[in-house]
Amino acid sequence: MSREEYLRRACPVCGSSQAREEMGSRIRAEHQPLHQLRPFWSGLFKEKLFFTYHRCARCELLYNPIYFDGDQLAELYGDMAPNMDAVSDEAILATQQGYFERAAQGTRLEGDYLEIGPDVGHIVAQAARSGDFGHFWLFEPNLAIHDALRVAVDGGPATLLADMDDLSPVPDGSVGLAVMIHVLDHLLDPLETLSQLRAKLRPGGGLMIVTHNERSLLRRVLGERWPPFCLQHPELYNPDTMRQLLERAGFTGISVERSRNHFPLSFLARQAAWAVGLKLGRVPLPGWSVGLRLGNILTLAKAPDQAATARPARQLEAV
Ligand SMILES: [Zn+2]
Repeated sequence: MSREEYLRRACPVCGSSQAREEMGSRIRAEHQPLHQLRPFWSGLFKEKLFFTYHRCARCELLYNPIYFDGDQLAELYGDMAPNMDAVSDEAILATQQGYFERAAQGTRLEGDYLEIGPDVGHIVAQAARSGDFGHFWLFEPNLAIHDALRVAVDGGPATLLADMDDLSPVPDGSVGLAVMIHVLDHLLDPLETLSQLRAKLRPGGGLMIVTHNERSLLRRVLGERWPPFCLQHPELYNPDTMRQLLERAGFTGISVERSRNHFPLSFLARQAAWAVGLKLGRVPLPGWSVGLRLGNILTLAKAPDQAATARPARQLEAV
């Protein structure tokens, strides 16, 4: 047994430690020593292996009660390649442009801009071009893409930081738009991060989050083969659990909708074939990209109009 190697967590949204098991892989990550999980983390094996997901008995969040600790995570992320490299640039650009346009509909594009995990900065570049932002605060642990981010801000004032857990360099009440794309379901303590973030927003400032949706049709169809069941996601959200988390972190005006992702048709066909156990190999497939509302949710929220008071504490189990 190697359980003691890993962190034991209560529910990261409500603090309860009552949870029932819901989804496990054939070989469970919590029964393997860390060195045997490394190749699975890097995606070297096709076999699914993840920490067992449980459903919180109180708030219904789907999460891993046993997971990597912060030090293990820092080390594992240290040798990771940038996200989504299997999908073409054109498809990524179309997807990210859609996200930005959605955020721009309900938010004034002024004040400072903050993004956690901007990757190579597709949305940063959009924000620099079409917004009227002051300073850009970019929290990106992958130092190899910091140069690309400097290009994305196009000469605008920017601070690039590698530590995604500490937002303290950002002045309180300064940020007009904050963005987190496929970041929140990677965090050990999402409530802490969102509470910090809310304090950085100006009154009425906007937050946009994109995550997977564990209540999606795709998840029901694919079951254990749903790609977001993996070592990188210590929790997975649905519209209800997302809303609860944001309310606890002090946000208002919360809306959750299914988001559109653009995929090259060839990529989709290969993923689908893989999910049902077919190998397409070198079969030629068309290069079109299609926009699908497929398994992801986009959440918009605001900081309250009144200046925020004390940060809400997580409700303790005994209360
Ligand atoms: Zn809970």
